[in-house]
Amino acid sequence: AAADAPLLQVGTLTKTFGGFTALDNISVEIRKGERFGLIGPNGSGKTTLINCISGALKPQVGSVVFCGENITQLPPHLRARRGIARSFQIPRPFRSMTVLENLMVGLDFAAAGSAAAEEEIAMSILTRMGLAAKAAAPSDTLSQVELRKMELARAMAVRPKLLISDEAMAGLSSSEVDEVLDLLISLGEEDITIIMIEHIMQAVMRFSERVMCLDAGKIIALGAPSEVMANKRVQEAYLGT
Ligand code: ADP
Repeated sequence: AAADAPLLQVGTLTKTFGGFTALDNISVEIRKGERFGLIGPNGSGKTTLINCISGALKPQVGSVVFCGENITQLPPHLRARRGIARSFQIPRPFRSMTVLENLMVGLDFAAAGSAAAEEEIAMSILTRMGLAAKAAAPSDTLSQVELRKMELARAMAVRPKLLISDEAMAGLSSSEVDEVLDLLISLGEEDITIIMIEHIMQAVMRFSERVMCLDAGKIIALGAPSEVMANKRVQEAYLGT
């Protein structure tokens, strides 16, 4: 797979808001199946970059190429259809629905073919996420970590090629963080590419094959987690010096 074209190519991306440059000439390629960590202090441009990838924002300069297709001008729903899914920090379940129903809302009917097939697919995703026993439970009875898993399951329901995990671990205990990390790592083993935005450094270190650190809209480090963590500019950015 190493010889494959990159799944995602971000080229010379610049995004400004008024006179403020939130992203300044960002270029990076992410390969299929890669586990990629995105870090940087608050306001460094992480969310803006993810928004440019998912389509919530359009850059003034540069391109986003996904599976060889230039998607820079595509709206978010068409990017989702091409396999870009986003899972958020704050789970937003339909509270009155069961876990299974929550998942089926996001399923691709056309791909499933029938209601029975749809339910089967939803159950298989729940099983993967360790939530099969909770399928019939109303979602508002779930614990925090179960909600995060359900949020990931909902992202998986669209059968993404690229999953963007936006602070999925926030507020979890360290053993729960490990549980969610194990899940994400196992998805990577199925060739799902994952970009993880995360403030919990140990989680980023354990998860990522490569880490990119942004500061003031620029890439200040990109490489193996241990290299990036040892980088002086990264340490300074986090210390605010
Ligand atoms: P991070 O996710 O790393 O905390 P963001 O991408 O959210 O950083 O923000 C980067 C910078 O861009 C911040 O200074 C933020 O205030 C600014 N910014 C983000 N979105 C907007 C917007 N819609 N309008 C104006 N400024 C914005």
